[in-house]
Amino acid sequence: MSDCLFCKIREGVIPADIIFENDDVLAFNDVNPQAPVHLLIIPKKHISTVNDMVDDDQVIMGKLFSAARTIASQKGVSDDGYRLVVNCNEKAGQTVFHIHMHMLADRALTWPPG
Ligand code: AMP
Ligand code: ZN
Repeated sequence: MSDCLFCKIREGVIPADIIFENDDVLAFNDVNPQAPVHLLIIPKKHISTVNDMVDDDQVIMGKLFSAARTIASQKGVSDDGYRLVVNCNEKAGQTVFHIHMHMLADRALTWPPG
């Protein structure tokens, strides 16, 4: 996806503050953080939205959760808690159409979200 912001980050064309990487997953700090810890965990494979997942992608999405668990431990927020969010399409607030999991932590988060 040549016009996808997060594919460009994956390719190194656009810089990002990368904090985790393996064969399938990349994580980097959100450029506009909404909490002291706010990072984005993405599959290296381009998938536009949850609606666009195909059967095999459930394995990839599971790897995002595994990465989240590892990152939470590295950040020292596992016990205090953290929030994982995936927005799907405009009404949910999705602005970048490459699936990503937000990780928010290190402050008290309210519920329901806005
Ligand atoms: P969403 O609204 O769920 O699509 O989330 C997109 C997120 O990407 C927002 O929280 C943005 O702040 C973040 N974002 C946009 N551009 C960049 C970038 N170049 N590097 C890191 N995060 C970004
Ligand atoms: Zn992409």
